[in-house]
Amino acid sequence: MEFKLLRLNLTEWKAREEKIPESLLRKYIGGRGLGAYLALKEIPPGIDPFSPENKIYILTGPVVGTGAFETGRYHVVGKSPLTGILGDANSGGQFGPWLRFAGYDGIVVEGASDEPVWVSIVDGEVQFHLAKHLWGKGVVYTENIIRKEMNTPSEHIGSILSIGPAGENLSKIAAIMNDKYRAAGRTGLAAVLGAKKLKAIFVKGSRKIEIVDKEKFKEESKKIIDKITKHSISEALSKFGTAVLVNIINSHGGLPTKNWTRGTFEKAFEISGEYLAEKYLISNKGCWGCVIRCSRVAKVDSGPYRTPVSEGPEYESIWAMGANTTIGNMEALIKLNYLANDLGFDTISLGNTVAVLMELYEKAKNGSLPEEKAKELEELLGDIEPSWGNADAFAQLVWRMAYRHGIGDYAAEGAKRLAEYFGSPDSAIHVRGLELPAYDPRAINSMALSYATSNRGGCHLRAYAVSFDVLGVPDKFDPLVVDNKKVELVKYQQDYFSVIDSLVICKFNSFATDHTDYVGVLNAVTGWDMTADELLTAGERIYNLERLFAVREGHGYKDTLPKRLLEEPLPDGPAKGRTAKEALEKYLPYYYEIRGWEDGKPKPETLKRLGLEEFLYIL
Ligand code: SF4
Repeated sequence: MEFKLLRLNLTEWKAREEKIPESLLRKYIGGRGLGAYLALKEIPPGIDPFSPENKIYILTGPVVGTGAFETGRYHVVGKSPLTGILGDANSGGQFGPWLRFAGYDGIVVEGASDEPVWVSIVDGEVQFHLAKHLWGKGVVYTENIIRKEMNTPSEHIGSILSIGPAGENLSKIAAIMNDKYRAAGRTGLAAVLGAKKLKAIFVKGSRKIEIVDKEKFKEESKKIIDKITKHSISEALSKFGTAVLVNIINSHGGLPTKNWTRGTFEKAFEISGEYLAEKYLISNKGCWGCVIRCSRVAKVDSGPYRTPVSEGPEYESIWAMGANTTIGNMEALIKLNYLANDLGFDTISLGNTVAVLMELYEKAKNGSLPEEKAKELEELLGDIEPSWGNADAFAQLVWRMAYRHGIGDYAAEGAKRLAEYFGSPDSAIHVRGLELPAYDPRAINSMALSYATSNRGGCHLRAYAVSFDVLGVPDKFDPLVVDNKKVELVKYQQDYFSVIDSLVICKFNSFATDHTDYVGVLNAVTGWDMTADELLTAGERIYNLERLFAVREGHGYKDTLPKRLLEEPLPDGPAKGRTAKEALEKYLPYYYEIRGWEDGKPKPETLKRLGLEEFLYIL
């Protein structure tokens, strides 16, 4: 199997091709796995994430663009400015397949340009273009102008990845956007592109993706598609989008509300997927090749939150900007989501950060913030009053954060740095600096382990324990009972999801499938003879490799949770009176045992078992 990388040297505006040896692909598959390997080999230890020495790997995987099933994604890897360890993010839309059709399976962005630049890649031909006229502009405008310049008006042909003003101005919570509304959101990697002055990449082409055994490929993909289309969760996602979760998680008392001080939100229904579908939905939409089509296309026709036809909002965005700040108005959330996408923010981190600011504002008012910090906050806020539930203040803050005006300059650094600066570090709910997503581990206790051990920081996509604690997939567990079987499932998901992100496909497949379903397709595409066990071991190898990056950096491998979740009991809902402390303390020792780790670090024998001997020097 051929896997071709394009190395873009932005310092010199030069490009060169490189072929990845098949032996490396068999070990790390592609996408997230290959990115982690290359990052560990190529990014020097201890560097500033904004230095030209940092690199951004934009990678597809062996099945992307084959048309098999949900194969329209790409994965981004680099050293995160938010966490200081390995960051990565994943996005759907069309960019992944069009990158392959353009002639490359991945791009490595290296060095830094003196001037803003954008790059076009059309059927293997690479061109660098000055981007001065696009710098400072939103994502929608940027894409429209590039499409004009490339004479490609149809949004069904070619694809664009870009950063908004948030990334340009080095906000540590900036998202890489593609196809206007899709985000590789987490860990702030857009700011690394901003530091390199790369505004956008356009891709288009006609390359056919090689499939070694076409008959086998058809047969294996059909099996997977049948499973996905028949699954009840796929049906719910198609009908109500990811926000179908709002009412479900709220009913379990696990919908973090008012900056994680409560577990239920009284206006949950008004921000639910069901409400969105009834009032504002125009249609559903799918990423390239998707049979589920969970994306929302919505608009607000009139009023203060009038918003043009656009995609979203998704569950995580609705929660972070809604329940977590107590904004219970769907029209406001559609507008905020549009703004966040256009300015290029990770909505999970953005919502958490604004919630911290609302808490700081409340503390300043009631005298529980250090006096000089309260005064400084008031001066920096100027005319903005970020009281709980104030959507207009939120909108003003997003603009100021994107362009780093006043308080926006501090908030653009993310929740942790903002809370620390104003003398209230425990107000920020994060793991390793990455703001947590929409599930309270005090109410869904397997998420305590999932968050604490997530290599990229607070994340639900390393192990989605909600699937068995709440949704009953593969089996239903009591979310409040501590059970070591759940530890095994968290580890399994972490390894399996590493495979999914390396193939690179959509995780929503995982409700209906497990790792054994994919080995047939992978072998049909590549001509390999991999077994299902070998595929899962590759996932485990990748998970260990990512942890090694943190060990090498000398921080980011301590597995714990924010103080609020460990020490402050939930005051409401079915999990009233619970903290996440007991679950985490009971789960961690068994987790380390089955991972072959000690105090958050892989043991030498674990690295040897996984064929990672070349990295033993890190321990
Ligand atoms: S299920 Fe949703 S996120 Fe996944 S590929 Fe389909 S549309 Fe995209």
